[in-house]
Amino acid sequence: ATAALPDYLASLNTAQREAALHGCGPNADAGPLLVIAGAGSGKTNTLAHRVAHLLAQGADPSQILLLTFSRRAADEMIRRVQRIAAKVSPRHARLAQGGFPWAGTFHSVGARLLREFAGRIGLDPAFTIHDREDSGDLMNLIRHELGLSAKGKRFPLKGTCLAIYSAAVNTQASLTEVLQTSFPWCAGWGQELRDLFLAYVEAKQAQQVLDYDDLLLYWAQMVAEPELAHEVGARFSHILVDEFQDTNRLQAGLLLAMRPDGRGLTVVGDDAQSIYSFRCATVRNILDFPGQFSTPARRITLDRNYRSTQPILAAANAVIAQAKERFSKDLWSERISGEKPRLVSLRDESDQAAWVVDQVLARREAGLRLKAQAVLFRAAHHSMRLEIELTRRNIPFVKFGGLKFLEAAHVKDVLAILRWTQNPRDRVSGFRAIQLLPGLGPKTAGRILDNLQAAPPGCLLLAEQPVPEGTRSAWQAFATMVEALRASTTWPAPIEQLAQWYEGEMDRLFDDAPVRQADIQQLARIAATYPSLERFLTELTLDPPDATSDESGAPLLDEDYLVLSTIHSAKGREWSAVSLLNTVDGCLPSDLATGSEHEIEEEMRLLYVAMTRAKDHLDLLVPQRFYVTGQAAGGDRHVYANRTRFIPSRLLGYFDQLSWPPAEPAMPAATPDPGARQNAIDLAARMRAMWQ
Ligand code: ATP
Ligand code: MG
Repeated sequence: ATAALPDYLASLNTAQREAALHGCGPNADAGPLLVIAGAGSGKTNTLAHRVAHLLAQGADPSQILLLTFSRRAADEMIRRVQRIAAKVSPRHARLAQGGFPWAGTFHSVGARLLREFAGRIGLDPAFTIHDREDSGDLMNLIRHELGLSAKGKRFPLKGTCLAIYSAAVNTQASLTEVLQTSFPWCAGWGQELRDLFLAYVEAKQAQQVLDYDDLLLYWAQMVAEPELAHEVGARFSHILVDEFQDTNRLQAGLLLAMRPDGRGLTVVGDDAQSIYSFRCATVRNILDFPGQFSTPARRITLDRNYRSTQPILAAANAVIAQAKERFSKDLWSERISGEKPRLVSLRDESDQAAWVVDQVLARREAGLRLKAQAVLFRAAHHSMRLEIELTRRNIPFVKFGGLKFLEAAHVKDVLAILRWTQNPRDRVSGFRAIQLLPGLGPKTAGRILDNLQAAPPGCLLLAEQPVPEGTRSAWQAFATMVEALRASTTWPAPIEQLAQWYEGEMDRLFDDAPVRQADIQQLARIAATYPSLERFLTELTLDPPDATSDESGAPLLDEDYLVLSTIHSAKGREWSAVSLLNTVDGCLPSDLATGSEHEIEEEMRLLYVAMTRAKDHLDLLVPQRFYVTGQAAGGDRHVYANRTRFIPSRLLGYFDQLSWPPAEPAMPAATPDPGARQNAIDLAARMRAMWQ
């Protein structure tokens, strides 16, 4: 059997190889395949080998649907496939270099399919896509229109409305059910919410805008028609999904609809890393997978971890072993090391930032590039002090997760105009665009949009719209530009023209215009890399580029930089050295998530995901004191924090403990000596006791 084994699969272990070859050999069937395995066991690597092997067997890259959780993950997967294909043959290398047009997230693939099938499902192919903020704005607009936003009424806020709507869509459950299980405090508003959601759906249809959920929902409805399901399904010889544990019901349903017999369908995942249940992802998808299809799925497990040293893996295993809901088994590693992960106790967040930067630099001195190191955190704002420290010490970094480039007001302005250009019926975008002009408020904007909607397409001159005296010339310049953008057939000329106009307005709109102008230029540069306005808007809305250390945009790829990332955005990735900030109760688990046991378990899995990103060095940081400000916090003051509950005393043996600075406790009178601080002394309780 080994004689027949192709070279490019030689590095895989037996179980990985079985997965890569599943359904390909003689007398094999290509029924559904599930690979369920822990972190760093080579799931993604195996998937890449499988794709390369399929190419070697004659599969056409344009018929392979590759679903991942981010565009970055998709790009990374394609690069891996290309490296492997290069070992198959020069011809296969070229084939893989040509790219995989159907690699991406569920949402971006959905957007492409919907544009293509738009005519068949009653959609205008020029539909625009609303991001979450746009969706919130539209929801809010309708709340007002329906009179639900009156002060004394206490109707749920727009964010809550949107969350309820989205939960109902993604779990495919009834509104009543969703309200009962997840939003009991809104249960009394059932009828009003139903009216609101109906009006929201109607508004989206009238304006031909789709929100994120619609991309899945329309896709699901499209493939609910057996004929269309067959047609869509037949485009793909193979469908492969990474990180399957973070898909929701609707997404799993799409796969089933396109592939009722599961043929050519491969999914890989790890239930211990399920961290998106707040977006309705469910590990049930993995558990139910084998029995869903007319052919039962083959299930392959991997248990050797190739990523982390044994001491790091032992600590991560010990943490996740505390989880109640869990199916995959513990992993083992052959990467021997004498270095345990470190649990580092620090006075406060300033010390934490200084210490992390010192360590990062020390490792760089020792030969570890910045790129091989990462700093992770539960919430995007946890890295603020570190960002300041890095900037002060001139260390380049990239931040993943949290506020995105595209969420900045000035970038959103430009995108709103572009969206409105693409789809004049898109009210949220039109509203935003029109009000950029001096002296034009919501009233005028609403009137202009009404006129636009009432007129037959192409029969209305923007420049002739009634605007207040004194704003006419500014309006006409704007209208001329928008009309020109609409008429333009070349790309990226329109965004250059628009950027120029907008930069002229920025001094009036922002105090820090020069900084923001750099962003707009960056946006224009990014735009130029897309083939069309439509592709640019779609991809950008669905998978925005990450925020960066400086306003000039992402560091060039050959530069060295440190990665800062939320744990969620670090999924699937690995670094030689990983530091986790704020490993304290209140941050991890987040004090926003301590409601149910279910939520706590998800926080525990987050810690597991964070720890298993490390290959050689892992530091968990425990600042003892936080400075909180503002009214909500009850005034400016210090609060004390405890080491995360997920590392109870009995697990301390898995770590090396140290305190920094070593010999001078911050408050000698109130805190025990630094060595003892590691133990489960509840300082917060002490502080409370002082006031009782
Ligand atoms: P995660 O759960 O974090 O997504 P994963 O299971 O997808 O992890 P990979 O990222 O595919 O794991 O692999 C982890 C590391 O192990 C990578 O550096 C990969 O190159 C390496 N690896 C995987 N399989 C092997 C193998 N058979 N031999 C040597 N190295 C391997
Ligand atoms: Mg992976």
